Amino acid sequence: MDKKPRHVLGLSGGKDSSALAIYMRDRVPDMEYFFCDTGKELQETYEYLDRLQAFLGKAITRLNPARDFDHWLDSYGGYLPSSRMRWCTRMLKIKPFEEFVGDDHAFSYIGIRADEDRDGYISSKPNITPVYPLKEAGLREADVFQILEDSGIGVPKYYEWRTRSGCFFCFFQRKSEWVGLLERHPELFEEAKKYEKIDEEKGIRYTWNQSESLSELALPDRVNEIKRKHEKAMAEGRKVAPSEKLFQIFGQALDDEDDTEPCMICNL
Ligand code: SF4
Repeated sequence: MDKKPRHVLGLSGGKDSSALAIYMRDRVPDMEYFFCDTGKELQETYEYLDRLQAFLGKAITRLNPARDFDHWLDSYGGYLPSSRMRWCTRMLKIKPFEEFVGDDHAFSYIGIRADEDRDGYISSKPNITPVYPLKEAGLREADVFQILEDSGIGVPKYYEWRTRSGCFFCFFQRKSEWVGLLERHPELFEEAKKYEKIDEEKGIRYTWNQSESLSELALPDRVNEIKRKHEKAMAEGRKVAPSEKLFQIFGQALDDEDDTEPCMICNL
């Protein structure tokens, strides 16, 4: 007899996949929730997932890659991942997900909203079928905030200073978010700094940001400049939304240095 298809929903610790999980809780009772844990997430993310797990009443399976970030960094010759060389998502997110599903037929629920023009990560494996319930129901960003607020879960605490889930050293984060990391988690900022390698003589410059190292970014004048620009962009680009309280802590304005798109795999 053919096996029943599986229903799987990957949580990133971000708002959209969390709202999707809440939205789907009573619609697909045999949903399997999972989280690809890179081991380099913020403590706030783990705490948020614990709260979400309690709400869902079901375990969120933590998928740990067989080998961690540091192992792969070594394999890639110390070359830090970047938007052009994104080995981290392949090794720490996609592979563990595809191994979790194996050869089973699975519907993979993806938290893309109706107001987004993207598909998220679509597995090339033919046994995995993507499903977009938020998009299909016409649910937009304000609806996502509403779902989170109505559930009592709210948004993750890191939204006070950062708009994306993922590794604390993610190269996709904005300059203002690096400053947030420096101020909120100085020990993690120091840890991120240790990954950078600069040897001008040998022409080696492995830094998280192409334009400056974290040591340069952390100089007081530079920090003030980044904050000033961010505040200006926030004041100019502020959104008006039904759930004002949540939007107050979820500023999306970008300044001209902070125009990076988030990772489409890690930041749903
Ligand atoms: S969050 Fe960033 S650094 Fe971490 S796996 Fe995703 S893209 Fe790579």
